[in-house]
Amino acid sequence: MHCLNLKLTYDCPNNCAFCFSRYMKSEILSLDNLLVTIEKGYRNGARELVLSGGEPTIHEEKFLKCLTAADRIGYEKYIIQTNGSGIAVGESIINFLADFSKRRDVAISFSIHGANSKTHDELSCTSGAFDKLILAMKKIFVETACTIYTNTVITRRNLNELQSIADFVKSFNPEIIQFAVMHAPDLKSLSVGLKESALAIRKLNISRDVLKTEGIPYCFMYGLEECVGESYWPEVLDIYNREGNYLADFNQREHGMRWKAAFCKECLLNEICAGIWTEHKAEFLNSNVRPIK
Ligand code: SF4
Repeated sequence: MHCLNLKLTYDCPNNCAFCFSRYMKSEILSLDNLLVTIEKGYRNGARELVLSGGEPTIHEEKFLKCLTAADRIGYEKYIIQTNGSGIAVGESIINFLADFSKRRDVAISFSIHGANSKTHDELSCTSGAFDKLILAMKKIFVETACTIYTNTVITRRNLNELQSIADFVKSFNPEIIQFAVMHAPDLKSLSVGLKESALAIRKLNISRDVLKTEGIPYCFMYGLEECVGESYWPEVLDIYNREGNYLADFNQREHGMRWKAAFCKECLLNEICAGIWTEHKAEFLNSNVRPIK
């Protein structure tokens, strides 16, 4: 499906150590231009809408007006990436989603950094963040028909907690439990490499139907290829992440975010592989990984 990823705001009550948005909280993304962009995306062919941030649920009016406009225009699938903070406190949001999810395919993708408040709040740099997240997950699970996804960025701090996180979130019957490699090159103390991340994921006792990864290519996930999350990414991705700046058919490699080695041309999965985050280039070249043949 063709997807439009719309950043509603860079504002967020949390201050996650590895989040690029934490330095951009004052960037303005006006409602008027967001509404114009939603129309433009649909005309371009997008039928899936991702609402992201910052934290898209904290500006309730903007959040609800964007969803209402997209619904009227005809978007078919919706993914909301959230830390739960706006959902936990906003009755209007829950009431809206309860009704909306009866008519539309809506997934709420929760960012969870730890299996308990100590780890999650520490990585969020925000006291009470875990309690809000869990309250939001419970509300979505009990009061709406939204599908639940979870996403966990693998860090040195939660590396030994990944199974506990998976066991904990299973009670919300998630369709996807995703683990993502961190890509914040300046945070070496928290960073976990490709190989160590892949090894940790291999040890997890989670159904392969649910387990997904981000940022780890097939050659590190040998035997678990169906869990490589990029395989399920939209065929065409448009991005709106700066005021008035619509990026059609965004390609992460063309923008220097992703990278592949020369030997990737020999790989059987080269055509469908998204490559690695560019900051993992040195580890990739120094590893013994080889193209899949
Ligand atoms: S294309 Fe390159 S990065 Fe992707 S799986 Fe093959 S060898 Fe690995």
